[in-house]
Amino acid sequence: TQTPLPRRARAEIDLGALRANVRALRARVAPHVQVMAVVKADAYGHGAVRCARAALEAGATWLGTATPHEALALRAAGLTGPRIMCWLWTPGDPWAEGIEAGLDMSVSGMWALEEVVGAARATGRRARIQLKADTGLGRNGCQPADWPELVSEALKAEAQGLVKVTGLWSHLACADEPGHPSIAGQLDVFRSMLDYAEKAGAEPEVRHIANSPATLTLPEAHFDLVRPGIAMYGVSPDPAVGTSAELGLRPVMSLKASVALVKQVPGGHGVSYGHHYTTPGETTLGLIPLGYADGVPRHASGRGPVLVGGRVRTVAGRVAMDQFVVDLGGDTPEPGSEAVLFGPGDRGEPTAQDWAEAADTIAYEIVTRIGARVPRVYL
Ligand code: PLP
Repeated sequence: TQTPLPRRARAEIDLGALRANVRALRARVAPHVQVMAVVKADAYGHGAVRCARAALEAGATWLGTATPHEALALRAAGLTGPRIMCWLWTPGDPWAEGIEAGLDMSVSGMWALEEVVGAARATGRRARIQLKADTGLGRNGCQPADWPELVSEALKAEAQGLVKVTGLWSHLACADEPGHPSIAGQLDVFRSMLDYAEKAGAEPEVRHIANSPATLTLPEAHFDLVRPGIAMYGVSPDPAVGTSAELGLRPVMSLKASVALVKQVPGGHGVSYGHHYTTPGETTLGLIPLGYADGVPRHASGRGPVLVGGRVRTVAGRVAMDQFVVDLGGDTPEPGSEAVLFGPGDRGEPTAQDWAEAADTIAYEIVTRIGARVPRVYL
């Protein structure tokens, strides 16, 4: 028997679309280039384990997370086969567990190398580490000036059987702005940092720098592996890169709710906290049971679009913690009718990108922040 769909509010996750997106990304890279499915932050809000499995079925061979805890959770969920890399470590993090779980652990500086070497000694097992270069992003990663020391200390630990340098990698700052001058600059720095490490004796299994926009637009950045996140979820990294449809991608998440109440109100009626909306005349209001606790951005108050009863309406007044209101302009859909906040966009519904524009943010933030209270329903 099939469990009925939760009606009040749900995020539908179309795993078929995710698999198709991974295949489309695979088709954009040379056959030898591996795909790392980036499933950090609960797969950008889509559900890490389900999405990881679907991505692997469609040809991804690596999984990527930010924290070691996310990576360990994937192993604990039974994903024991694939390589899993995690890149955002802080002092005291579970290096020994990472070694036991066979994770590829990113190392950006000497403190991390010292901790991972200590954990390798303690466990008696060799740690798989990937050295991260800061080629210009100015965030995590080793500065070019500090690279010789990091490389030489890592290779010393490798010679002692404590670590294996499995990867050399970096991250781009402006790949979502095709043609941005920093892109070529970062690639030059990356090539020279790779060259230095390889001449010093590093024999990495993978060298990589490409996120979604670089996977989609920059073949010279593909090296041995690409790390798409947002594109796998069918969302364009930026309108400058193209729409999802132009990129051959299909949005995976649809956010839906049922209309909780429909009522007639007179003109001049204030709506929601602060009365930032006043009905211009007699009208009907629809109550949508999703709020900022569910990830509907309060910043989209008065602007966010919702498809109800075949028409796109706008959030009337403020988004509250659990609910918001739309002015239905006299329409009287039945309570329980479907409201679609966003989806693929081919049935008249808004997209996550539309919500991003309404909230002055990026579509990444819209999907990633959908709250834990919203059940994910897998199609
Ligand atoms: N690689 C790293 C290191 C990241 O932090 C991220 C996400 O920000 C990605 C890859 C995937 O980026 P995108 O979602 O733009 O493909």
